[in-house]
Amino acid sequence: LKANFSVFQDEAEEMNGFLTVLSDVTEEQKVERERREFVANVSHELRTPLTTMRSYLEALTDGTTWKDETIAPKFLHVVQNESERMIRLVNDLLQLSKMDNQDHRIEKHRVEYVQFIDHIIERFAFNAKEGLTIKRHLPSKASYVYMDSDKLTQVLDNIISNAMKYSPEGGDIDVTVEVQKHHIVTKVSDEGVGIPEEKVDKIFDRFYRVDKARTRQMGGTGLGLAIAKDLIEAHDGAIWADSREGQGTTISFSLPLMRKKRG
Ligand code: ADP
Repeated sequence: LKANFSVFQDEAEEMNGFLTVLSDVTEEQKVERERREFVANVSHELRTPLTTMRSYLEALTDGTTWKDETIAPKFLHVVQNESERMIRLVNDLLQLSKMDNQDHRIEKHRVEYVQFIDHIIERFAFNAKEGLTIKRHLPSKASYVYMDSDKLTQVLDNIISNAMKYSPEGGDIDVTVEVQKHHIVTKVSDEGVGIPEEKVDKIFDRFYRVDKARTRQMGGTGLGLAIAKDLIEAHDGAIWADSREGQGTTISFSLPLMRKKRG
């Protein structure tokens, strides 16, 4: 019986080893597939503004169009917009690549979070497009988070500019901060177009856009929330979305609270 059992054990181990190899292979294939998709996406995203720029420049240099005082400024404006779009895209890509290579510097400090948020919203409220109101719902007590303020500013920047982009005129944007036992949760809610249920979780993927045509028009790169997710995770936090189509979207993220100092 003993001998039989050890044979059985050997087989089980072999089987386990085999399964480990198998799952490593599929993981490797997945990473490779994602890498290829990423390169294809980047190429496509860069080609679109480049071909647009080329055709407008061709039209301008064709004959005397460049001298035409009504058409030429319009065409140059398109070229300028497209080049700005490319710069945004390349900047976002550089940032993602830095994070992938783990050589990005996250400089964390002890920060009083409620005041930090208050300042950021103040700035946004000041620059908000007309007819949009940003409302703050902040706790009265101070809370401390160990974080990189610049990176967190960027996260909020991405989330709040989305909320503004997808909000109707006269819409409210609500920023709420809630203190929980070990975490502090920040929620940004809008009354905008919303996201279909089956697509909500995908919005944190690189290059994912619910409505390609519309977001392109608005100058989006499809990378803003992917960057936000990487940055929040680098702070040991989590980010998620709740949305109802036609009613609005809430993007929330949580960050670990610093433990109170004793004595
Ligand atoms: P983009 O640069 O296109 O805004 P993001 O990564 O910031 O890229 O967002 C990804 C996609 O998620 C957007 O293209 C949009 O379709 C959707 N999305 C993000 N925020 C909102 C929001 N507040 N309301 C509706 N849709 C949103």
